[in-house]
Amino acid sequence: MKVYLNGEFVEKEDAKVSVFDHGFLYGDGVFEGIRLYSGNIFKLEEHLIRLEQSAKALLLDMPVTRDEMRELVCESCRVNGLTDGYIRLIVTRGVGSLGLSPKGCGPSGLVIIADTIELFPKRFYEEGLKIVTVPTRRLGAASLPPMVKSLNYLNNILAKIEAQASGHLEALMLNDQGYVAECSGDNVFIIQGDTLVTPHTASGSLRGITRDAVLEIAEKSGMKVEKKNLTRYDIWVSDECFVSGTAAEIVPVVEVDARVIGDGRPGPKTLKLLEKYKEQVSGDGTRI
Ligand code: PMP
Repeated sequence: MKVYLNGEFVEKEDAKVSVFDHGFLYGDGVFEGIRLYSGNIFKLEEHLIRLEQSAKALLLDMPVTRDEMRELVCESCRVNGLTDGYIRLIVTRGVGSLGLSPKGCGPSGLVIIADTIELFPKRFYEEGLKIVTVPTRRLGAASLPPMVKSLNYLNNILAKIEAQASGHLEALMLNDQGYVAECSGDNVFIIQGDTLVTPHTASGSLRGITRDAVLEIAEKSGMKVEKKNLTRYDIWVSDECFVSGTAAEIVPVVEVDARVIGDGRPGPKTLKLLEKYKEQVSGDGTRI
């Protein structure tokens, strides 16, 4: 496998970055995870825009233009002969001194890895996931805005560790006000009657690209769609629940904090959305 690293494609074994890169020292950088389906990159433009916006929020210089980035992403898939997989795009602050200051760092580092991913084992897409609310709260917009997809994922990693400690694969995270924010690596939705509900981004979640795609699919198929504050109670008593993300896609949730959701099996409306999502990803996208 070849990895794009600061201007060239190198073998995976040689894809090494400096220990003085502030991406390594401080998590100072941004990233994206993008999916490739049958030679089409799903929502590439949306991911490139979010990457640029995350970088802007951190006053981080983009190392290449949008056009160059698009071409490099496609080229990364082509050189690896990849038609289905997952692309990780990473921009770091670059090499600097041991101090925290980004001044003097640079140029920004750029890594593109085109590989495959399996976030949750296949059986959970059929059986559904059991998740749990964890003590660690999602960072607020006044701290490290959750809208920024930064390399600093410690907030989410703590949540993941707490979920795993109780035998769960995914963590439900609340914000400082106690409302539902998102899961450690995906957005959360409930279905109540014919209405699809997800926390608005101000609740403290990443504006997931899969989330937007799911909302659009739901609206088109005649469901009502709402973005609002959700409590744990709303989730516990929902008819259906699922999580969404680029890597996860759509995973039904059948238990939250030991409360069984619906009849304990993936909900019919969730499965319908998953089917439509699969249809969309196989048809849409940027040809590599
Ligand atoms: N929230 C978090 C914290 C994430 O890491 C991800 C995965 N990128 C998501 C939500 C889902 O976002 P997307 O659908 O854009 O992958």
